[in-house]
Amino acid sequence: MTKDQLESLAAQHGTPIVVIDHQVIRDNYQAFRRHLPKVQAYYAVKANPEPAIVRTLYRAGASFDVASLPEFMLVYENIRSLPPKEQQDFIWDKIIYANPTKPRETLEALDQYKPLVTYDNLNELHKIKRFAPHAGVVLRLRVPNTGSVVELSSKFGCDPGEAVDLIEAAFQLDLVVEGLSFHVGSQCMNAENFVQALNLSSAVMQESAQRGYPIKILDIGGGFPAPYHRDVQPIESLARKINAEIDRLFPEDIQILAEPGRFIVASAATSVAKIVGKARREGKTCYYLDDGVYHTFSGIIFDHCQYHLRAFKDGPTGICAVFGQTCDALDTISLAEELPELEIDDLLYAENIGAYSSASATWFNGFPPARIIHLNDQL
Ligand SMILES: *Cc1c(COP(=O)(O)O)cnc(C)c1O
Repeated sequence: MTKDQLESLAAQHGTPIVVIDHQVIRDNYQAFRRHLPKVQAYYAVKANPEPAIVRTLYRAGASFDVASLPEFMLVYENIRSLPPKEQQDFIWDKIIYANPTKPRETLEALDQYKPLVTYDNLNELHKIKRFAPHAGVVLRLRVPNTGSVVELSSKFGCDPGEAVDLIEAAFQLDLVVEGLSFHVGSQCMNAENFVQALNLSSAVMQESAQRGYPIKILDIGGGFPAPYHRDVQPIESLARKINAEIDRLFPEDIQILAEPGRFIVASAATSVAKIVGKARREGKTCYYLDDGVYHTFSGIIFDHCQYHLRAFKDGPTGICAVFGQTCDALDTISLAEELPELEIDDLLYAENIGAYSSASATWFNGFPPARIIHLNDQL
């Protein structure tokens, strides 16, 4: 996206906007497939649930990881709305319900689709048996999340030591454990997390097979990092390590899937906001934008992500603060951005803001979320 394009879209639609380039989504998906050729990608819808993104990725051949009934229905409806020749028998091939905790009403509603769902404890297993007896199940393992920006291991996953007992418990209830899954933590900066998780999974699978319960699917989760800054290792080098471990540890016929969220969508979106106020406080220039942490910049709070703001103007730069426009001091985008001298009505933009951004935007203070603009979504 060029600066000219962003400026003219802002002029056309007003601000705040989030511009999503679907060609980047397709490119990221293809890069993922190219570097991890044995791995089917199930896009994690929670990263950005825009229906147009689901359609683009479905057309590109992706499958989907959903975490709620509305996300499941979003994928299902989108797929059903495509012309018949693009439809297929897709449930397990196309959707995994990867939230280990499911309300009973959700299980009841999902049962008719014979879904593939995850679990990580005995209570959940009994609930699945009772309310979604036609589901296939996948056991989520707890694996090291060291060095990932967003840690998940304190909330999800069974202890590897109890894994085979939980697999056996499922079979005793007449449920079939189709797979094992894990998540190394989001924005994983440490390839060793994947190496350890793959080794743990392989050990669990071997022991399970020895007890008479062979497992067909390995779900290596999300965590593939987005290129927010220079020290993020490219997907090539992470993929090389993952591929080597997969080849070394697992039989040829294992089916491997992953649940990339951030990697697919983060770099596809750029937001544009307008300066609506300017003040000087304690010697520092403060800008107030018509977007903020309750809106597109919500990832600052929920995703531990820092976005950098850029100006459309050139000129000598200085350190300034940038706030959102709501009446809450938490609504602070940055206390130290480096920007040229700007005025009210000037625009700013932030790149790599496609993941965990609009997805968690609110209507706080009566300000609506930024308008989403789709580029290149129709081929
Ligand atoms: C959030 C989530 C993902 C996506 O993680 P990313 O780090 O964005 O790739 C995948 N799987 C599960 C179960 C998740 O909760």
